[in-house]
Amino acid sequence: YQAKRDRSGVEVYEATRDGNTPDRLGLLGDLRRALDSGDVELHYQPKVCFDGKIAGLEALVRWEHPQRGRVNPEEFIAMAETSGLMPQLTEYVLETALGQVARWRKMGLDVPVAVNVSPRDVHSPGFAGAVAARLARHGVPPGSLQLEITEHVLLEDPQRAADTMAGLTGHGVKMSLDDFGTGYSSLVHLRKLPVSELKIDRSFVARLVLDNEDAEIVRCTVDLAHSLGLLVVAEGVEDDETWERLRDLGCDAVQGWLVAAAMPPDEATAWLRARGEHGWRRPNALEREP
Ligand code: C2E
Ligand code: MG
Ligand code: MG
Ligand code: MG
Repeated sequence: YQAKRDRSGVEVYEATRDGNTPDRLGLLGDLRRALDSGDVELHYQPKVCFDGKIAGLEALVRWEHPQRGRVNPEEFIAMAETSGLMPQLTEYVLETALGQVARWRKMGLDVPVAVNVSPRDVHSPGFAGAVAARLARHGVPPGSLQLEITEHVLLEDPQRAADTMAGLTGHGVKMSLDDFGTGYSSLVHLRKLPVSELKIDRSFVARLVLDNEDAEIVRCTVDLAHSLGLLVVAEGVEDDETWERLRDLGCDAVQGWLVAAAMPPDEATAWLRARGEHGWRRPNALEREP
């Protein structure tokens, strides 16, 4: 925290200087309690291939605050990250997601789940082993878990991050690079990272049909990723036109409201059951399409 000496030379805590306003400190305490009480839950958003095959589901954290209502994940995740609460949040999310995968597998729904992890997690030395132990405890095969990381893992200690990721892939866990295009990592780094999937950030996808430069960025990203042997997922696909452009650019899978928003577990189960055999079909698809 930021300390400031008052006139008597005594250090006084200036809460607002480091962003920890009383309001924010209150929210942090609430989050800590919510992780124990079950007010934090996971919703699941499908990733689907262009042939309709369901590639997996991404677990997205949701917090329903008793007074404030739904709190924006970006907001409380940033808070957890700077306050040291991230390990607990990640533990909670992994535990909940793996429990869900195990339940789905018992129902005959064998679908991989992706969990978002923060740079903090990837820099913690015991992380890969802890994930492997957790998988074993739930009886979930490592291939049913995917971890999504952002390029920000490369900012602090790229070597440590690469080691942890190598540990995870060594156990059979798949790694995915989220929000691609928004960070600062070079292509050299991308080549060194043991990821098998790259997710194009929504900001590029959203402008794809309107802006030629964004279309070119997406085209280059797809080509680059494919030349490195990676699958490409586009996030935030909201309309048919974007879906078609992405398919024509050679993208492998999409995620977005066009397919489905993130759903609570029961709704996700029903969604999977309804689409299990034939996969997902675009409601407005023209008849000439298969
Ligand atoms: P992300 O991993 O890139 O997740 C995609 C975000 O885009 C999600 O926001 C999702 O609800 C939203 N989204 C999906 N499809 C569409 C669409 O078609 N249109 C629009 N406009 N938005 C769409 P959400 O759930 O608010 O999560 C925001 C970010 O918070 C995530 O970005 C991820 O970085 C982080 N996050 C979420 N859950 C977790 C978690 O359990 N752990 C960690 N460490 N981070 C998480
Ligand atoms: Mg993600
Ligand atoms: Mg993303
Ligand atoms: Mg994002």
